Amino acid sequence: MKDLLILGAGTAGTMIANKLRRRLPRDEWRITVVDRDDRHHYQPGYLFLPFGTYTPGQVVRSRHAFLPDGVDFVIADVDRVEPAGSQVHLADGRTLGYDYLVIATGTTPRPDQTPGMLGPEWRRSIFDFYTFEGSTALAEALKSFDHGRLVVHVTEMPIKCPVAPLEFTFLAESWLRERGVRDRVEIAYVTPLSGAFTKPVASAHLGSMLDERKIALEADFMVESIDNDRKLLVSYDEREIPFDLLVTVPLNMGADFVARSGMGDELNYVPVDKHTLLSPTHPNVFAVGDANDIPASKAGSVAHFAVEVFVENFLEHIEGLPMTGSFDGHANCFVESGGGKGLLIDFNYDTEPLPGKYPLPMVGPLDLLKETRANHLGKLAFRHIYWNVLLPGRPMPVPTHMSMAGKVTAQPTENQE
Ligand SMILES: Cc1cc2nc3c(=O)[nH]c(=O)nc-3n(C[C@H](O)[C@H](O)[C@H](O)COP(=O)(O)OP(=O)(O)OC[C@H]3O[C@@H](n4cnc5c(N)ncnc54)[C@H](O)[C@@H]3O)c2cc1C
Repeated sequence: MKDLLILGAGTAGTMIANKLRRRLPRDEWRITVVDRDDRHHYQPGYLFLPFGTYTPGQVVRSRHAFLPDGVDFVIADVDRVEPAGSQVHLADGRTLGYDYLVIATGTTPRPDQTPGMLGPEWRRSIFDFYTFEGSTALAEALKSFDHGRLVVHVTEMPIKCPVAPLEFTFLAESWLRERGVRDRVEIAYVTPLSGAFTKPVASAHLGSMLDERKIALEADFMVESIDNDRKLLVSYDEREIPFDLLVTVPLNMGADFVARSGMGDELNYVPVDKHTLLSPTHPNVFAVGDANDIPASKAGSVAHFAVEVFVENFLEHIEGLPMTGSFDGHANCFVESGGGKGLLIDFNYDTEPLPGKYPLPMVGPLDLLKETRANHLGKLAFRHIYWNVLLPGRPMPVPTHMSMAGKVTAQPTENQE
């Protein structure tokens, strides 16, 4: 028997287990998946919990329900990988050997990395929405927030779903307006980037959406600490931003065991070839999803497209053949903009998000980089697709590689929009 060991039963690990169990003969291959608990979280749902759009029960399910027969599921914390001996040590003292290892342990918000973030104001006036606990606590806090300064803050890039803080800001603005208190709340968006987003065309577009909504953009802000007594964000260049309610995205980092195993970069991401996701130093180790260091967005859509390429490559690799698939960094994200509308962005390593139609040129029916009701409905529908199609590894009717069909390469004028 050969052993495929997958660390992490999140988006990428679950899809890989499902897809490869169908492709690898059961009498030749054992597949084992390790995760620390039995609760699979639909993380995009964290965005909606604070506004009551989703209930907690809609975003959490048992991991067992999504892992197929013929896959061993081990519940344990990973303590350390020993790549030289092809072994994984679990925190409970057990050891698992492998012929091939897939690291799919994602990335985690780390409020402990910013002085003052976990101070006395944590979960009183300082919240995150990148965890289930943070998002549900924020839902409670928002119920009584009807005046003052709301500051939405990104600590450092990269973060998973880099558009999510902007989406939260747009949804909060719209929600305050619906409750009739928008004129009593000042909103600021504070980012370490030089604009609203990472890529120029989308950054200009999303930046003007902040302007239209009278949301102040505080760019190039590298937070040094949070002063709990005076409720201030303080930057390295000594700027101070006051808040009554701070919604922060803490530093995101890969799993600590990656560092303990000597397999990560300074943020615990596993270096891999950006087209094959294979470790350059360990020919039987892949890292897929948010856990790796590829220069793509950390997003479920990226994990999905990467898994499609990885599965075919893996089947070639174990036969000793060259891997013929090449991942292009494809990302595809709905961006909530409030008021029942949303945008869609589609991009890869080489092409930034551009306006246009998706997936069919001229026809759409979805619009790229434009606020429409259809995009919002697409975002809401995605939860069902995630549980019923994506996680079980069923085929999705969208291309794995990014296509230029339907994209407009010159910047649109206002009339064209
Ligand atoms: C608020 C929010 C909104 C988002 N919105 C979107 C969106 O609209 N579109 C989109 O594409 N993406 C979105 N994402 C991102 C998406 O959820 C992630 O990119 C995706 O889940 C990554 O999949 P993954 O398998 O790499 O990691 P994960 O799904 O995070 O899985 C990692 C798994 O590893 C396990 N693990 C970690 N360390 C250990 C250890 N030491 N021992 C055992 N197990 C361990 C964890 O328990 C977890 O189950 C959003 C994320 C957030 C937080």
